[in-house]
Amino acid sequence: MKTLLNDVPSGVSSLKAWTLAAAREVYEAPFNDLLFRAQTVHRENFDPNLVQLSKLLSIKTGGCPEDCGYCSQSAHYPTGLKASKLTEVEHVIAEARKAKEGGATRYCMGAAWRSPKQRDMDVVIAMVQGVKALGLETCVTLGMLSPSQAASFAEAGLDYYNHNIDTSERFYKEIITTRTFADRLDTLENVRRAGIKVCSGGILGMGETEDDRIDMLVTLANLPAPPESVPINMLIPMPGSKLADAAPVDPIEFVRIIALARILMPQSYVRLTAGRTGMTDETQALCFFAGANSIFIGDTLLTATNPGDDRDSSLLRRLGLTPKALEVSRNVGTVGALRGDIE
Ligand code: SF4
Repeated sequence: MKTLLNDVPSGVSSLKAWTLAAAREVYEAPFNDLLFRAQTVHRENFDPNLVQLSKLLSIKTGGCPEDCGYCSQSAHYPTGLKASKLTEVEHVIAEARKAKEGGATRYCMGAAWRSPKQRDMDVVIAMVQGVKALGLETCVTLGMLSPSQAASFAEAGLDYYNHNIDTSERFYKEIITTRTFADRLDTLENVRRAGIKVCSGGILGMGETEDDRIDMLVTLANLPAPPESVPINMLIPMPGSKLADAAPVDPIEFVRIIALARILMPQSYVRLTAGRTGMTDETQALCFFAGANSIFIGDTLLTATNPGDDRDSSLLRRLGLTPKALEVSRNVGTVGALRGDIE
């Protein structure tokens, strides 16, 4: 049974709270019925042939005090990754300029921190302002944020904050022990209250059940406002990490989760994130049909591999998909190589 939420901001279409049982019923429908429904919802809310492109840069790699079992950057596991210092602002802006020339409309910057220290805030804010000045949307992922830190980023004009809930509340403690599921929700609330758009999703393939995956999406869909951006990752097992030997995800189960995300969060961008290197073109095509409409471009994602521009431009061209342009209200200049390849 679905019940009305009390605290839904105006303009948010998701007025119902999903239960696990209702979401599971959708997820378990015959595959063709599920995909037809997801594609129908997708067409009601988006141009079905546009894909938003983002680029991700690690601005501070490794040495993280958190113990996320899937991550090569955690100091808790012998992954062999060398910790780096915070990148120079000028380097980040130069890389963002290249990303824009490559067709990206959003530039995401990630640091392996539990939460940003005060001395780091000024540097990251300068990065946000510099990238924004190029006409790109900005996103950062820096760990937990306090209300005052979120307010500082909002003042700097940050568009999105990424903070994944990763999995269900039930399974979360099997993967991370250094911060709680409630901590994650608190950061999402701090970001939302500051007026920054929320990017939050999770990872499949960590040993969770299908119910855990469905429950993760139910949690996101039932937030007072669902995230504007929902990244769905397929685990890339990192050597040395706790999940180095995790079993691969069934691609059909992965596509079902993409479809469910589209149905539960009709107006959110659903992003195929890590793990695309392990997917066939056909699996990715099914994901796009199921409602995924955002990808990361480039050949790396923080420390993991990504398909790279050549394979992506070829795939998008074969599928007749077009990169979404920056909003026309922005002063955007040229949209670059990847976009040009396809048009
Ligand atoms: S996922 Fe983020 S918070 Fe967790 S260990 Fe990796 S860098 Fe740290």
